[in-house]
Amino acid sequence: MDWEFLKGQDAAVASLRRDLASDRVANAYIFHGPEGVGKSTAALIFAKALQCGGEAPPCGECPACLKIDRGVHPDVIHVSPPEGRKSIGVEHIREAVIGRAVQRPQEGNRQIFVIDEAHAVTIGAFNALLKTLEEPSYDTVIILITQNLHALPPTVVSRCRRLLFRSLNRDEQRAVLAASLGGAGGDLDQLISLSLGRLGTALGNDPEVLAGRREAALGFLEGLAAPPGKADIIDLLSLAASQGSGSGAVRAEVLRFLEMLLGLLRDILVLKVAAGDLEPWNTDLDEVLRELGRRWGAPGLIQAMDRVETAVRDVGEINTNPSLTLESLVIGLRGTVGAGS
Ligand SMILES: [Zn+2]
Repeated sequence: MDWEFLKGQDAAVASLRRDLASDRVANAYIFHGPEGVGKSTAALIFAKALQCGGEAPPCGECPACLKIDRGVHPDVIHVSPPEGRKSIGVEHIREAVIGRAVQRPQEGNRQIFVIDEAHAVTIGAFNALLKTLEEPSYDTVIILITQNLHALPPTVVSRCRRLLFRSLNRDEQRAVLAASLGGAGGDLDQLISLSLGRLGTALGNDPEVLAGRREAALGFLEGLAAPPGKADIIDLLSLAASQGSGSGAVRAEVLRFLEMLLGLLRDILVLKVAAGDLEPWNTDLDEVLRELGRRWGAPGLIQAMDRVETAVRDVGEINTNPSLTLESLVIGLRGTVGAGS
């Protein structure tokens, strides 16, 4: 895997290659941009280019390149929230980064620290890291990866070279999926729809599971939009509750259901007010979504999206009880149907 593998990120790639060619690699980078557009892949390729012993780095064949591909190079260190935790705290950063950055590399020319989900690093941990960002003891490259640049403290952002990874359009997504999945991807357009244009989701999930989730979310919206009496609110509640039953990862499943709901609502809004300017993700549901859109006014749809976003935050960040959140969401969403139409 080398630079050719990254689709649609020409500006970021050119910048990294320029740094390599001119031997002006920065001590710290921030790769930011939406989920699943190649930030982690770019970090991997960059790490290979930096550690490669071949003639045209990254050669992909030397021991260093092969070890990085297998995730076992001792001088390429990945840091992410510990199992079951949402944040990366001071102790973790001290042990995984600060303590190691003062040691010599074991095999390579330098140590490379890749901090995934850098927005999960606590303020305390970032403060502890500042000195390492400014005055590395040995050749060290720290790569912070995040979807949300604004979640990082300005003191950190200003000390890093920032690279934006942009959203990919449908054609670029199709090209990435074709290269990654080959024939195994089945109907790639369908997969892009089901994953709401998130490559990470498309690559990491069984399409049938995604299809089942979308069907549930669609049924839920149809129930909401049905004239009173047709769909009992109790049915909706049990449909919502069924999204969160029978699995240990209830919270994660509820979150995925809510994200699917949000994606469908977004598409309904796009078809209703911006068809032609914006493309819906669920191109295969065009008629169904247009029909649903007739039950909502645009302001009601925006309210509905707000409510679902709040529910995502409640379940994902504030740790509210998922079933209670879904219950109040059902009642809240009922109120948006017909609003402003
Ligand atoms: Zn190599």
